[in-house]
Amino acid sequence: MFQTLFEPGSIGKMTLKNRLIMAPISTNLAGGDGTVSDELIFHYAERAIGGVGLITVENVCLAYPLACHGAAQPRIDDDAFIPGLRRLADAIHQGGAKAAAELTHPGMSAGLRYIRGETPVAPSAVPRPKDGLVPRALSHTEVVEVVGQYVQAARRAYEAGFDAVELQACHGLLINQFLSPLTNKRQDEYGGSRENRARFLVEIVAGIKRHVGSDFPVMVRLVAEDMLEGGLTLEDGRWFARRLEEAGADAIHPDFGLGGKEKRLEPMPYPQAWRVYLAAEIKKAVSIPVIAVGVIREPRVAEEILEAGKADFVALGRALIADPDWPNKARAGEEQAIRRCIGCNECVMARHVEDAPLRCSLNATVGRRPEACRLERAKTPKRVLIIGGGPAGMEAARVAALRGHRVALYERETHLGGMLNVAAVPPGKEKLNWITEYFAHELPRLGVEIHLGEAMDAERVRALNPDVVIVATGSEPAIPDIPGVDGPNVLVAQELLARRMRFTGQRFALVGGGMLGLETAAYLATQGNAVAVLKRYETIGRSIEPLYRDHLLRDLKEHGVEIITRVEVKAIQAEGVLVRDQTGEERVVPADRVVLARGAKPADKLVQELRDFNPLVIGDAVQPRKIINAISEGFVTAQFI
Ligand code: SF4
Repeated sequence: MFQTLFEPGSIGKMTLKNRLIMAPISTNLAGGDGTVSDELIFHYAERAIGGVGLITVENVCLAYPLACHGAAQPRIDDDAFIPGLRRLADAIHQGGAKAAAELTHPGMSAGLRYIRGETPVAPSAVPRPKDGLVPRALSHTEVVEVVGQYVQAARRAYEAGFDAVELQACHGLLINQFLSPLTNKRQDEYGGSRENRARFLVEIVAGIKRHVGSDFPVMVRLVAEDMLEGGLTLEDGRWFARRLEEAGADAIHPDFGLGGKEKRLEPMPYPQAWRVYLAAEIKKAVSIPVIAVGVIREPRVAEEILEAGKADFVALGRALIADPDWPNKARAGEEQAIRRCIGCNECVMARHVEDAPLRCSLNATVGRRPEACRLERAKTPKRVLIIGGGPAGMEAARVAALRGHRVALYERETHLGGMLNVAAVPPGKEKLNWITEYFAHELPRLGVEIHLGEAMDAERVRALNPDVVIVATGSEPAIPDIPGVDGPNVLVAQELLARRMRFTGQRFALVGGGMLGLETAAYLATQGNAVAVLKRYETIGRSIEPLYRDHLLRDLKEHGVEIITRVEVKAIQAEGVLVRDQTGEERVVPADRVVLARGAKPADKLVQELRDFNPLVIGDAVQPRKIINAISEGFVTAQFI
């Protein structure tokens, strides 16, 4: 199975047992002082055990504080960090993988909160696109010093037992800033021509080879093209790749450069492997190995990339966050047992928005202390009854069964999934079906008895007399108290989506501008309807992960969806929705149909009826929230019964 994927391969003198590499993904799991923590070691050891050939340890800081690029990032800027890094490399090796350290300097892209009040540095004092802040241009002497910092960082990685380093030279960070004409306006030998702009990177590669050893592999996460006008093109990317090969680099891992954050932390609608063309383009220019990355979620997709000759290795990032055992499962031919990353970007929200430890919607163990992840065999197996087959109930069933309990799951619908079946309907949300497919495969395998199409009531629960009852009955639509709400022209968003209702050429008004309202608007607009979203407040989709929110709002704009903010819905009438704006003026927003999208409330009737069973209540039945809450509560609840 997947023969090409599991062929050994070499990067320089380093031999990998297969063609799978873990891409560097920041976790915020290092100690606040940059030391390697037990959580960080556990995180990577789990992924090494899962069968990947090489792990690239995230975002290692090579110069404090100017190169800081995260709230809790590992440091490598002093020999004092070597012992901790050695523990990390050892743990990765014990897990069966090779280890590389990603050496990172953000340059002008540094978050001000990370660099302790310093001014970010850059090749040139060019205002940075995100906020106009002007960085300080590095002097010639400083450029040479920073080259030395990279070399020293590589030396420490080598001394700590790492098998390779990867130079971060894309995503708009310091090396990318030297390479790109948009950010490099230097007049000295580090600016101007392509050769000069490449000099900083070439000197780093050559310096590592000279001082650490020509056999120590240097991989380059190279900008293949910038996403800003006037920036680097694929032709530049190929030229730099060739130049790096001449300089002694051992592999190229191409990705995007300046701009385009959404295109490298893609939200759910992006298709699998869509940016593999970057690797394919670079591969035309070099004979050293090329690594493909970007939304590669399934073994067959990874295998196809290799077989088509688009790359020599495949990097998995979020795929291994969601399921560290992806490689072992693929190798065993158990593709269906893989918990495929859905691209919900809850992890991105943690790392990039909240400065919090990494977390994952699907994998409740991510970011937790090792002891909090342990699933101990139950001393006395219990008969566990789970009511509700949404994400919370399915995860509780999985974990309880893994612990040796006898689990029966009842779902009143004829299929598993609960609200996932609704949430997967709007455009670009199909990957949500992967969650249900995963559980539908896992639960029977673990011996969970699944009863579909069977509603549960208190009487039936009493008759079954289980030892433990878990209520995961989910949510039901919240219907606002508005005059006209029960009119014949009114639909409820969840029902409209669940029944996959289709319309064309009609005018719709959506009451509610949260994720449900906006996605329902997208669903209707793509069918060829005129849609207006009515929103009480100025802000739109505040709780949605920002990259996806931007994508969604852009999509709505392209489909002509009108978003009317700061209006209060007063009544629903035959001709539309009566609203009052902030000035007190009332008007009717014309619509043939009105859709209620004011969220949901717990479907918790059973909880009261089952009080004598002391039921454990999880997921939306407690309060409607996100997938991560449902799955995490399912996991933790079943962990302790
Ligand atoms: Fe994938 Fe979402 Fe998990 Fe991130 S949080 S790894 S995007 S499933």
